[in-house]
Amino acid sequence: MLTLQPQDAALDCQADSWQEALDQAAASLHEAGLVEADYRDALHAREAQGSTFLGSGIGIPHGTPESRGQIHRTGVRLLQFPSGVTWHDGNRVFLLVAIAAASDEHLEVLRRLTHVLDDEGGAERIANTDSAEAMVALLAKPPAKARLDAGTLCLGFPARDRFELALAAAARLRQADCVDARFVAAITEQEPVALGQGLWLVSASLGVSQPALALATPERSFSGPKGVVNGVFCVATQGDVHRALLERLADLLDSGEGEALVDADADHVLARLSGESSRAETARATLLNAHGLHARPAKLLVQAAREQSLPVRVRLMEGAAETVSAASLTKVIGLGARRGQTLIFSAEGEGAQAALAAMVAAVKAGLGESVRPLADGGLADHASRDKTAAPTEEAAQEPVADDTVLPATAASPGLAIAPVFVMRAPSFDYPERARDLTPEKQGDAECQRERLGASLSEARDQLRALIGTAKGGDVAEILSMHAEMLDDPELHEAAFEGMRDGLSAEAAWWQAIDTAARAQEVLADRLLAERAADLRDVGRRVLGVLCGVKMPTPPQRPYILVTDDIGPSDVARLDTAQVRGLLTARGGATSHSAILARALGIPAVVGAGPRALTLANDDELILDGDLGRVIVRPSAERRDRAELRLKELERLRREAHGSRFEEGRTADGRRVEVAANLGNTAHAADAVEQGAEGVGLLRTEFLFMAHPEAPDLETQIGEYQRAFDALDGRPLVARTLDVGGDKPLPYWPVAAEDNPFLGLRGIRLALTRPDVLETQLRALLTAAGDRPLRIMFPMVKDVDEYRQARAIVDRLQQEIGAADVQVGVMIEIPSAALLAPSLAAEVDFFSIGTNDLTQYTLAIDRGHPELSSQADGLHPAVLRLIQMTVDAAHAEGKWVGVCGELGSDAAAVPVLVGLGVDELSVSVRQVPMVKARLRGITQATARLHAETALAQATSQAVRDALETL
Ligand code: PEP
Ligand code: MG
Repeated sequence: MLTLQPQDAALDCQADSWQEALDQAAASLHEAGLVEADYRDALHAREAQGSTFLGSGIGIPHGTPESRGQIHRTGVRLLQFPSGVTWHDGNRVFLLVAIAAASDEHLEVLRRLTHVLDDEGGAERIANTDSAEAMVALLAKPPAKARLDAGTLCLGFPARDRFELALAAAARLRQADCVDARFVAAITEQEPVALGQGLWLVSASLGVSQPALALATPERSFSGPKGVVNGVFCVATQGDVHRALLERLADLLDSGEGEALVDADADHVLARLSGESSRAETARATLLNAHGLHARPAKLLVQAAREQSLPVRVRLMEGAAETVSAASLTKVIGLGARRGQTLIFSAEGEGAQAALAAMVAAVKAGLGESVRPLADGGLADHASRDKTAAPTEEAAQEPVADDTVLPATAASPGLAIAPVFVMRAPSFDYPERARDLTPEKQGDAECQRERLGASLSEARDQLRALIGTAKGGDVAEILSMHAEMLDDPELHEAAFEGMRDGLSAEAAWWQAIDTAARAQEVLADRLLAERAADLRDVGRRVLGVLCGVKMPTPPQRPYILVTDDIGPSDVARLDTAQVRGLLTARGGATSHSAILARALGIPAVVGAGPRALTLANDDELILDGDLGRVIVRPSAERRDRAELRLKELERLRREAHGSRFEEGRTADGRRVEVAANLGNTAHAADAVEQGAEGVGLLRTEFLFMAHPEAPDLETQIGEYQRAFDALDGRPLVARTLDVGGDKPLPYWPVAAEDNPFLGLRGIRLALTRPDVLETQLRALLTAAGDRPLRIMFPMVKDVDEYRQARAIVDRLQQEIGAADVQVGVMIEIPSAALLAPSLAAEVDFFSIGTNDLTQYTLAIDRGHPELSSQADGLHPAVLRLIQMTVDAAHAEGKWVGVCGELGSDAAAVPVLVGLGVDELSVSVRQVPMVKARLRGITQATARLHAETALAQATSQAVRDALETL
């Protein structure tokens, strides 16, 4: 390691011009035996390319990259000019740090320099000191930093109170060798102090060898006597070194992001504590420069950042991360980034994506130096690396202990007990440039184009074969969409462009896919954003063909599949004869993969975090798709209990299927209709075959989304007729078009909104285009004829909106005269539930959309990757709104349905019946089980469930209380 000695410093130098000062610097380096004499020319040549003035009176002259041959060994010399020298860029220089860098060792000196610059008055002290020892001492002091990295985190710890969490965090610091036993003992005596947002703090200075910050979070946030506990920070203090970390913690709390730490994985926690905003978009790039981010590339990176239209920040993925402005040279150099390390850029706001792409491109292009890819074949940037292939987090995770309950998000109901098969997707190793391919793949752009063409058609064949054997309409539909994506001319053109720039077919294709996927991801609409997962899935399929990589083969015995995140086509490929369940580290309950798991009837739990990937093949697992949790290597006792439950469930399922055509009724005869939710009228016949007593929710927006422009009257009549025909006299509840800023239609643009979920959507939007609404209503009324049609309006907030929409129905009815029509509203905004009495007086029925009602009541985005598991419809606040709605409707003799996901939740069915709900509309495969559940309860038990639930304070308390009944 490079160390500075007093003899490396020359005090009290004088120069009349910057050239003379530079000559003195060259002579000093030469005298110290670091460089050859003509290194002087290299210093001048470098200065001609751009000033090496760093800031605060300091210049850092160094040679051009080509002059490295003139360097004998790496070293620096300090030249102090107390009266200053005017540099060629107009700045005044008081200290020259002349650098001879044969390797990246000098980076450490640069880092220390930036520390001096950050320290107010530090540069001045160096320029004015009359002691070489003092100068060196100032520079020699390594910038002390408190440690915070994956090794100081203890996430998902099974603690019962905040004291246990505080101890877990202290123990983690001891394991990381930052503190000794005295520190841990000091922490046990403390009462954690509340920071707000469920976060707590303990700290001590006794026994600290390295200042550090640890965080321990519980498996699930819980309430203690002093409030909610989302996590406990434990600080090992020494002087004020830890202060910067505490300031970032304060910033995090100020921005209200503290609660988000509770279910976050290590990556997210470190990102938030680094100062990176959760609203920021990010992009990663691996630094390829041989000598790291030294002055020149750092300057180019800073220039690139300054050219962007919005502020860009950057941090190092490795080590104690702090995000800094990418436009600050001292901060960027202060990162001390070395070759092979990953820079994470972040930016917020419109144009962020373009800015980040420019930064990644600049790093990839070498920041003014010629760079070579990493020797291990690693890829140049995150964009060209298969995201499922790099679970570095996984390595940092502790393995899960035996008989541990791992909480996650319930994605598809059912119970499974089986050994696991952990599918780690293969990494795709390929060179960026076509010229670096193996000889048989090498060739010009035309040759790469042909290779891509051949791989596309092979991928098409694979998809066709999968579509042919796909079980369930949803699966085939999503695979067909993948096949269409393969033919997208814009994707092809983007890939060809890359090839024309010399990229290999692999790199060009992935770049095109990744760019398109990122563009989808930024869309506010979750449905569209999930297309990004589809795009990457399709992209990997083609990449697999191009690289000749085969997916790992699952075993020929029953297993629970464990993966990082699973693509829709992976789910479709699952051999349902062997797969008993699905567990993913990432993903939410509304992802396509989760929808497909439900369609295939595979129990699934998603978003379990990277610890799930520490499971070994053949580890046994109990997967509970109803409660959203898994038990790893269960004890014999727990396993026996689960086996019994499983047998019981299988028996129930068989019985439920056998009795699926019976009417929905409780054991003591109370009628509760069980209907199906559909997005596609083609599935109406299947719904009837599964025992549905009607369609309780037809999401007509899917019909609109499937067309390049609004479907005309004839098309719509045809669609709705298909459903009426299949239903054969059973009622059809059709929801009018429910689109908006959150799920835009390409041909119906809505101005950008800060918060589309609270914007122009649902009935609000439809009323701005009464012509579109009228055509849809006309089509519904015409298609119905004398069959039972129930029309309902989405996102109604009060009776005013209902009246406007209803007036159109009434006017059309005078003309068309359909025989059996009712008009109602969805109750999915809290105001509608609160005002149910005024609505009930005018509507014919209510259907409660618990998905949105929960989202708006609890103020939790239903698709939020970390929070959505807390958006639980069994929350007592939601249940009270349902109760108000039912009471108001029944007082007016109107019926109430529930068409949100809550309707098929096993624990919720008795509660909803107890609250008086008249109809449950659920996904098609759930119909037989929901009917069976109804047969298993009486009105009295249902009322008891409802009363018990209403008496609780949180959704967890509701679920716990219901389990004991
Ligand atoms: C709901 O919000 O509960 C609902 C059924 O509508 P969607 O899920 O389509 O928003
Ligand atoms: Mg809704």
